[in-house]
Amino acid sequence: SVALVWFRRDLRLQDNPALQAALEAGHDVVPVYIHASHEEGEWAPGAASNAWRHRSLAALDADLRARGSSLVLRAGDSLPALQALIEQTGAEAVYWNRKYEPATQPRDAAIKRTLREQGIDAQSCNGSLLFEPWDIATQQGQPYKVFTPYWRNVLSHWRLPALQAAPETLPAHTVDSLALDTLQLAPTLHWDTGFWEHWQPGETGALEALSVFEDGALRGYREQRDLPDRVGTSRLSPHLHFGEIAPWRIAHALEGLRSAGTDADIDGYLRQLGWRDFAHHLLHHFPKTPTDNLNPRFDRFPWASPSAAQLYDWQRGNTGVPIVDAGLRELWHTGYMHNRVRMIVASYLCKHLRAHWLHGARWFWDTLVDADLANNTMGWQWVAGTGADAAPYFRVFNPVTQAEKFDPQARYISRWVPELAALPVKARFAPWQHPHLLAERAPGYPRTPLVDLAAGRDAALAAYRQSAAG
Ligand code: FAD
Repeated sequence: SVALVWFRRDLRLQDNPALQAALEAGHDVVPVYIHASHEEGEWAPGAASNAWRHRSLAALDADLRARGSSLVLRAGDSLPALQALIEQTGAEAVYWNRKYEPATQPRDAAIKRTLREQGIDAQSCNGSLLFEPWDIATQQGQPYKVFTPYWRNVLSHWRLPALQAAPETLPAHTVDSLALDTLQLAPTLHWDTGFWEHWQPGETGALEALSVFEDGALRGYREQRDLPDRVGTSRLSPHLHFGEIAPWRIAHALEGLRSAGTDADIDGYLRQLGWRDFAHHLLHHFPKTPTDNLNPRFDRFPWASPSAAQLYDWQRGNTGVPIVDAGLRELWHTGYMHNRVRMIVASYLCKHLRAHWLHGARWFWDTLVDADLANNTMGWQWVAGTGADAAPYFRVFNPVTQAEKFDPQARYISRWVPELAALPVKARFAPWQHPHLLAERAPGYPRTPLVDLAAGRDAALAAYRQSAAG
């Protein structure tokens, strides 16, 4: 008997519950990927995400070929594509791992219903979370909106799925496939060339990133994860987003390294994986939040309308605030930005420029290789103060003191804004305070910030008071 295994964002062969279930049921597996971005509503994957996906699909196909099989690519509406493949292969079953986005969850439920009505054994599994969004609830059976009690609840149920090796061989099949290039995921202008100095998409790249983390940044993670001038974190986020590694494989690997010296770092890291699960919990229970404030109190907040030129300066890292510019340039050149700096650039946009957080969320969506609707939505709403467990709106990050604290030698700033390297370190945090030095040594850099920090902060707080009173 034949089963289709429908790969989506689980682009790996080990620890893949859908693949495992199909094999355990004794089926001959035909691996399938359907390019159907139009089914993702207004959150079709962005350009950086597609560039990654292209390489990750190529890696998956190579891994399948090494085992005697190959990836069958299709494009178009998912259900008819699956039905045509069922017809062609005589498949009796379709297996996939779940996704949690508001556009694809109902689509998948409808596909499951239709296939079952047609006598096909359609099965979905959990392939990407430690805990499903509906596994964790308050005593009243409600979703959590605050992380700490959510996490306490998770820890009281803590149990990791067992690890599963990748199958050694898979049956050959003769199903035709589209050529990967016809999906047009890879950029034709090759703006992504610089990305691949930093990343290796695919399951092998994910496992390598994990082992680099185990041997390196794990020790000291808790202290160093906030410092953008070094590799202090795992950089596993795009691999996790595309399902090139299961979060429980990471957790198992770290649990195996527990000792008095690593306990705090491992707990700190598992907590971040918990934030990832929490973001999916929120997206599942509050599916409108990719565009709507989770906290409706902000529906009457007087956001300013930034001009196209202001937004462009923010996007390209030309705001005149060095730490903000460094982050946005890191993003542009590598498809990634350090978490601390994501918070700083987001705060500058939502507070100092008082732009609606969606302006930033959409930019990140297009430019991050780890763009993830759950994590990105929660991150932006958190910084904007409109979300779950949010930093209160009136707590405005000062980008200068943030940089002095987390990038004290201005190494991160100097790396991404090299024109400031000619200034003394102390002048690199707020160069507008040193107009003569700036004019002399970094003539290409903006003379003044896009928005003056004190004025921007005061205007944001006044707007907040006004909306609170209204
Ligand atoms: P590590 O510190 O090594 O963390 C390990 C893993 O835990 C990460 O790979 C990630 O999967 C998860 N994680 C860590 N921090 C968070 C967090 N705050 N929220 C949810 N999960 C987390 N992360 C994305 O994966 N995609 C996004 O689109 C995204 N957008 C963001 C937007 C804003 C405004 C902010 C403030 C944060 C956003 N994050 C997003 C969260 C975080 O910045 C990244 O997950 C992290 O920087 C990835 O680097 P890392 O893998 O080295 O992290």
